[in-house]
Amino acid sequence: MGAMACQPCSTVSLMPRIAAPRDLTRAIRSVREAMDAGVLAESDYWPKGQPRFTSVPFSRLSESGGWEDIVQYYFQCTSCGQRFRLVAETYRGSGGELSPDDDPA
Ligand SMILES: [Zn+2]
Repeated sequence: MGAMACQPCSTVSLMPRIAAPRDLTRAIRSVREAMDAGVLAESDYWPKGQPRFTSVPFSRLSESGGWEDIVQYYFQCTSCGQRFRLVAETYRGSGGELSPDDDPA
């Protein structure tokens, strides 16, 4: 990974693997806690050329299910700007993570 996390955003509870609905619930709670603490803010970033398929604002995202097929949100550290990505393919129940995102902007 090699992410240069600063002290505040190094406290974010990352989820390198989201493999079940309960993992996604934990990841959403983890981001919300970090946002409540002022560590993370939602980011406007979206990968170039990728259709935006998430229609629910993160602030209204359920923690307990009823998610869209793909959950994908970006956040950034309010101190150092490090970007984080929350992604999960809920229809397959696998293939997700909450992790630093270092793809080129
Ligand atoms: Zn940071």
